[in-house]
Amino acid sequence: MWIFGLLLTIAVVWALAYWGAGTGVWIAAFAAGLAVFTAGTDVTWYVAVPVWAISTALVLLLGVPRIRRRYVTAPLFRQFRKVMPPMSQTEQEALEAGTVWWDAELFTGKPDWQRLLNLPPPHLSRAEQEFLDNETQTLCELLDDWQVTHEDKDLSADAWQYIKDKGFFGLIIPEEYGGKGFSALAHSEVVMKLASRCITGAVTVMVPNSLGPGKLLLHYGTREQKSYYLPRLARGEEVPCFALTGPDAGSDAGAIPDRGEVCYGEWQGEQVLGVRLNWEKRYITLGPVCTLLGLAFKLYDPEHLLGEKEELGVTLALVPRDTPGVSIGDRHVTLDIPFQNGPNTGRDVFVPMQQLVGGTAYVGQGWRMLVECLAEGRGISLPALSVGAGKTASRFTGAYAAIRRQFNIPIGRFEGIEEPLARIAALTYQMDAARTLTLGALDIGESPSVISAIVKYHLTEKYRRCINDAMDIQGGSGICLGPSNLIGRAYQAIPIAITVEGANILTRSMIIFGQGAVRCHPWVLKEFQAAQNPDPARGLAEFDHAAFGHVGFVLGNFARSLFLGLTRGRFSGTPVDGPTARYFQQLHWMSAAFALSADVAMMTLGGSLKRKERLSARLGDVLSELYLTSAVLKRFEDDGRPDTDLPLVNWACGNSLYRMQESLRLLFRNLPFRPLAWLLRLIVFPTGAPYTETSDRVDREAARVVLKPGEARERLTRGIFLNDQLRFRQAQIERAFLLAARVEPIEKTLRESVRAGLLRGRDFASQVEEALAEGIITRAEAAELEQMQILRREVIMVDSYAQYGKRFVLAPARSKKPAIYAV
Ligand SMILES: Cc1cc2nc3c(=O)[nH]c(=O)nc-3n(C[C@H](O)[C@H](O)[C@H](O)COP(=O)(O)OP(=O)(O)OC[C@H]3O[C@@H](n4cnc5c(N)ncnc54)[C@H](O)[C@@H]3O)c2cc1C
Repeated sequence: MWIFGLLLTIAVVWALAYWGAGTGVWIAAFAAGLAVFTAGTDVTWYVAVPVWAISTALVLLLGVPRIRRRYVTAPLFRQFRKVMPPMSQTEQEALEAGTVWWDAELFTGKPDWQRLLNLPPPHLSRAEQEFLDNETQTLCELLDDWQVTHEDKDLSADAWQYIKDKGFFGLIIPEEYGGKGFSALAHSEVVMKLASRCITGAVTVMVPNSLGPGKLLLHYGTREQKSYYLPRLARGEEVPCFALTGPDAGSDAGAIPDRGEVCYGEWQGEQVLGVRLNWEKRYITLGPVCTLLGLAFKLYDPEHLLGEKEELGVTLALVPRDTPGVSIGDRHVTLDIPFQNGPNTGRDVFVPMQQLVGGTAYVGQGWRMLVECLAEGRGISLPALSVGAGKTASRFTGAYAAIRRQFNIPIGRFEGIEEPLARIAALTYQMDAARTLTLGALDIGESPSVISAIVKYHLTEKYRRCINDAMDIQGGSGICLGPSNLIGRAYQAIPIAITVEGANILTRSMIIFGQGAVRCHPWVLKEFQAAQNPDPARGLAEFDHAAFGHVGFVLGNFARSLFLGLTRGRFSGTPVDGPTARYFQQLHWMSAAFALSADVAMMTLGGSLKRKERLSARLGDVLSELYLTSAVLKRFEDDGRPDTDLPLVNWACGNSLYRMQESLRLLFRNLPFRPLAWLLRLIVFPTGAPYTETSDRVDREAARVVLKPGEARERLTRGIFLNDQLRFRQAQIERAFLLAARVEPIEKTLRESVRAGLLRGRDFASQVEEALAEGIITRAEAAELEQMQILRREVIMVDSYAQYGKRFVLAPARSKKPAIYAV
């Protein structure tokens, strides 16, 4: 009886916590439990009375807000204010920038999947699609990557002009200012397509549309600034760049030593109030060719010309290149990806106040402006570039593996090759899903700073993984550079994508969870804000609400983690039936486990979690994988649940679940408070760790998607540059790939005939002849086999160059123009 009572109590408490019952329900359940306890058992009055008295006191203490605030919350509040980590203004502004979206849902431990699935599928307008099919296609054709990267070290004059004339620099500028006014999706599709043809061209187009004068003016510019500069930027009459980084301020951009002083000076022949600037910047993309510099610096007002304050903070200005004192034009050699990039300096450069972005109203707001713009831009440019590279590897390295034969069979059939090929295909599917989901959020007006950091980090890392795998698969044909090599430059560009817009180690270690923990958690930011409220009474009331909400939240995630851990997610609701239903259930489990672990880490480590970067990184990894897997499931639904995509979905979800599990296990192993870490491990994985690396079967099925022509391969690689004119390498590979699929059964017949001793010829040509004579194959089949031999050779050949004396004269087989390359 007692055991039954105890089990029933645990079950009720568990259920109430799981479903997040409100205070009233808890009190009612508690009272009902006590009533059953006193009426239904032979408990004596001297036990029952104290139990009732203590219970009533507890209910009054916790259930009546006024009493609770006074005796429970107030001491807690005082303590919280004392231990709350100090927050710099820069951190505060970073935290306030942007919005939270699906990331916050994942943080609840019980994501509302319907909310995700209700988001409209990605859709391009007719004008956007036409721009992609016409102008972007033409620009891709103009961008001869080998010519750009090896011979000219720059885009051709024609390509530059075309970019300016056709509005590629004004993709984000609204039509009223003469721009394209494109959606985030269209902007990303343009960059992705260009990246699949020429990364240098893609970077050139993406930078003015990302963080720079255009975006800053759109958000903060004065009416005059907008109407003067935006049409000029949209028409390509101005080439913009944005200069924040310098030798002494890289990742720690808030530490820029560059200085502006408010003073009077001469501007266009008149004495006006303005700013005298001194700066030293480096790594500035488009800097060497820019006409308009967006400049970040710290502003000072030593003569108090603007007001009382002397140190005004980070401020942004627009500096025309030809302003006296500006020194610009040198270039850095950024690996072999020669987009325009270089240093610049300014010595006593004077600009009037109207050149400050947003005018005097935005003085000192520069850091917030940058972080807000970055929250959007980071979700578009580099993810698009990464997916462009992943799709190129999926399509053309997959094709190469089907065409290239060793040991008499296509290399794609070797298990050793299936493993990296599956990774390329499935990671590309996952990257593209995350890209489009994020763009969907941006296009409904969100500006999710944590998600944009997630996609920046994970998509560039997966790009690295895909291209490294592609290089391994393609062997020498990936290594020897020349017009025939479609992946070599993408390989060289990786460190650039990893470093820019927030270097990856920093993004993983400090930003994703560092920001996410406060931004996305349903209660932590509210607690912080309550503690900072200058009105103590209101602060206490807000803290009381947040702290008790937080307690309920932790209890709920405790109950959910254990229940879902015991059942491995089974019995939890799913928004869909069919093959992906189980993944929704498992993500529910991981979301609860993540939310609980995040709370335990925050509660035990407090402010020092910020310095425990590796713990923070692992929590960020779980949040990121939750996001990436949600994106995969959403994409599968948006595409109409095609069976042919299931191998990629299975690989991506299986891999992500395994990675979440391993990140949590590593977190538990390294949490400093050991007993709590053991307990946490027991709650989250009560029946052990179920996930492993993807199986050989799952790998094989995923690899096959890119080894054969088909709708799944087309969907996976949609949007990249293709052209059926045979002067393009892409067309040559595609033609050979399609023929390889057609002749595969004929080659198999030939192989089996040789093995059975029916054909004795030593080489391929004589075997074909014999097979024809013996009636094993038809004349048409023999012709196709011969044609395949020719095309296969065309695809496996790499470029080579003549060598004269101490210099290579690089004259690629298909290039008419030789170029000199000093060695
Ligand atoms: C090709 C290129 C183009 C660029 N274009 C522009 C541009 O147009 N405009 C512009 O303003 N800037 C630009 N940048 C700057 C870029 O965005 C980075 O901010 C900058 O390169 C980072 O500085 P750094 O290279 O000196 O690295 P550092 O800041 O010295 O970082 C070195 C390493 O330390 C890591 N690290 C730093 N802090 C931490 C931390 N707290 N925890 C863990 N790890 C940490 C970083 O992740 C990195 O791995 C460009 C850079 C490059 C290379």
